[in-house]
Amino acid sequence: MKKIFVLFGLSLFLLSACGSNNEEAKGGNEGNNGEGLYVTASFSVLADMTEAVLGERGEVDYIVPIGEEPHEYEPVPSDFRKVNESDVFYTNGLNLEEWLERIMDNAADTEIIEISEGVEPIPLEGEDVPDPHAWLSPKNAEYYIDNITADLSERDPEGADIFEENAENYKQEIEELSAEIEEGTAEIDEDQRMIIVSENAFKYFAEDYGFDSDGIWEMNSHEEGTSGQINRIIDVIQEREVPAVFVESTVDPRYMETVADNSGVEIAGEVYTDAIGEEGSEAASYIDMMRHNAETFIEGLSRNEAE
Ligand SMILES: [Zn+2]
Repeated sequence: MKKIFVLFGLSLFLLSACGSNNEEAKGGNEGNNGEGLYVTASFSVLADMTEAVLGERGEVDYIVPIGEEPHEYEPVPSDFRKVNESDVFYTNGLNLEEWLERIMDNAADTEIIEISEGVEPIPLEGEDVPDPHAWLSPKNAEYYIDNITADLSERDPEGADIFEENAENYKQEIEELSAEIEEGTAEIDEDQRMIIVSENAFKYFAEDYGFDSDGIWEMNSHEEGTSGQINRIIDVIQEREVPAVFVESTVDPRYMETVADNSGVEIAGEVYTDAIGEEGSEAASYIDMMRHNAETFIEGLSRNEAE
């Protein structure tokens, strides 16, 4: 009896020793424990969706830390290691990960899958390239989830039924979320349905839920916050008489503060675009971040001048 106990204790020790070999990696989880699939996603939103489908059958990690934006990220050696050790690397595609080449040069053997495939792209304002922020409409999340499910099932066929079931449940939750957004945002007056943030990232959301959208700049990897951009958006705000503007968790708020000060509107809250919120925050998952965004828009844009 005693001997079994000792052996059991030893194997526990070995298991925990194996699990701690990439502790130094930043962002995300502890890495692969040698069982199940190990998937790395380019940023936290995609990792959260992947976790919902993968469930217990593996580990999910991500590259861009929460709070940083995924356009111009500079990958570090531990990121190359993560991707190298992964069974697959999930990216958004649609012009998002401008640093992908550096990953490909340093982790050449890991397959890269663009999980936005199937989304109808909306171009950047005045350009012929897609705006990458398709995940910001829950209606597009279905494409992401289907692509994740198909890929995981191919890599782990024994888990296919579980992935399918997880995906169905998750899509059900997202449909409920979408209905909630539809219903909640219906209260906002027609002439106040205008979302203004620093980076004009809500095009897909705006199209699906009947808003207009604009930003100080088009995309984070472009020039940010020039006086021309700031003056232009102030004009838009005054012309449209929008009641409020918003800042993002991944963008320096000072530009929008300048805009708010000079146009006499209030910043009505922080929304999540290029990352989920920190663990324990009100936006720690994709579903929670989208719910928080919708609530923040409803709160800010339903204000009238009397208030
Ligand atoms: Zn962005």
